[in-house]
Amino acid sequence: MNVSDSERVSSHLESDGFELTSDESSADVVIFNTCSVREKAEHKLYTRVGQLQKAYGPKKMVGVMGCVAQLEGENLFEGGRGIDFVVGTRAVGRISEAIGKALEGEKRVLDLKGREDDYDWTVSETHRHSPYVGFVPIIEGCNKFCTYCIVPFSRGREKSLPPAEIVRQVLDLRRQGVKEVHLIGQNVNSYRPLTDAGFEEFRGATPFSRLLRAAASTGIERIKFTTSFPRDFHNDIVDAINEHENLCNWVHLPVQSGSDRILRAMRRGHTVENYRKRIDLLKRSPRKIGLTTDIIVGFPGETEQDFEETVDLVRYCEYDSAYIFKYSPRPGTPAAELPDDVPADEKTRRFLELEKVQKQNQARSLERTLGSDMEVLAEKISGKDDRQLSGHTTCHKVVNFKARRSFLGEIRTVRITEIKSNTLFGESL
Ligand code: SAH
Ligand code: SF4
Repeated sequence: MNVSDSERVSSHLESDGFELTSDESSADVVIFNTCSVREKAEHKLYTRVGQLQKAYGPKKMVGVMGCVAQLEGENLFEGGRGIDFVVGTRAVGRISEAIGKALEGEKRVLDLKGREDDYDWTVSETHRHSPYVGFVPIIEGCNKFCTYCIVPFSRGREKSLPPAEIVRQVLDLRRQGVKEVHLIGQNVNSYRPLTDAGFEEFRGATPFSRLLRAAASTGIERIKFTTSFPRDFHNDIVDAINEHENLCNWVHLPVQSGSDRILRAMRRGHTVENYRKRIDLLKRSPRKIGLTTDIIVGFPGETEQDFEETVDLVRYCEYDSAYIFKYSPRPGTPAAELPDDVPADEKTRRFLELEKVQKQNQARSLERTLGSDMEVLAEKISGKDDRQLSGHTTCHKVVNFKARRSFLGEIRTVRITEIKSNTLFGESL
């Protein structure tokens, strides 16, 4: 979501006449797009602003956007950090105005107001993170209020984009040569648009599965979506995947914990058993769906027994990949009121143990692909070896493969020949 916000902000700035550079030394204005989901992410902002101040002094204008901007607001101006303007998560469409005011000499420019309804979501071709992959936000914000999570506070309530607008964006991207779109949101399967316009002919038990079918009907080669919320992950999503080849066979379904006690304390709204049923359903799909997840270790009150249950679930689900996080209290969330009682070294031990189990899962999942042929979107020249291209499969595995540069932007059949340090290598056929 943050990458997508940066893409949109860059596009807005350019159309408003600003020139963009990634070289901070030559920039007049430096903008930090920030994340506050974990403590570490938030601290990075303060470190980087400090470094900038030290290197260039107060001459350089500094702005902050994103979740830290929304949550900290005015506080960011305190403490002599040299921050000139702060733009909240829903004010990104007005960032040029904020910069304009700061350039005119206004001090402490702050915009935390809501989004205007006619906000333009278009990202110009030059500012997409990839010429071949495009992000399309379908829902902003979150209403779930999991007890550990800051997102409902930093990004506000859920707001779905109109289906006709989403389909228009997918068609535009397709026309521009994009091969893969990612429908993005904190909980994509909570998608609930206010209007049915652009949606009428599509079946499905939930608006999200209707949206998937509408997006699939654009004919774009690949559609991925993330993140799915387990409680609202209904069977018809899997039906839609099974029916439409261009809906990719990858589902990111964060479980957070394998202990019912902890899931209740996190207020996730699902039990281990409901979750396992969804995984069983996904595993039964004829499409061989790639599965990934997020897990938090060391939530307040997590015992060894709770942790062991998480390990068991991770073994059971055999995820292709998992993002594991050590719990960090986020001020303002209900869990931050609880004692953060799993000691730091114990969190690290649990993290490492779970990582070990997951690495075994991952190694098995990768080994199964050895010798097989996979469809890979050639996205870029590999950073490690410029004779190779690199890209993703439909189930979102990364593959590096020997191929001509002219194949960039094409979906190629690649034979997997080698696995090295958790990465697949192959040759384009
Ligand atoms: N909407 C998504 C995830 C958003 S945040 C979902 O519901 O799954 C991305 C991930 O960060 C979460 O899945 C969670 O694993 C992790 N996370 C969120 N808050 C955290 C916290 N306070 N400490 C550690 N990890 C956290
Ligand atoms: Fe955070 Fe829960 Fe919302 Fe995900 S669903 S963004 S974890 S509150």
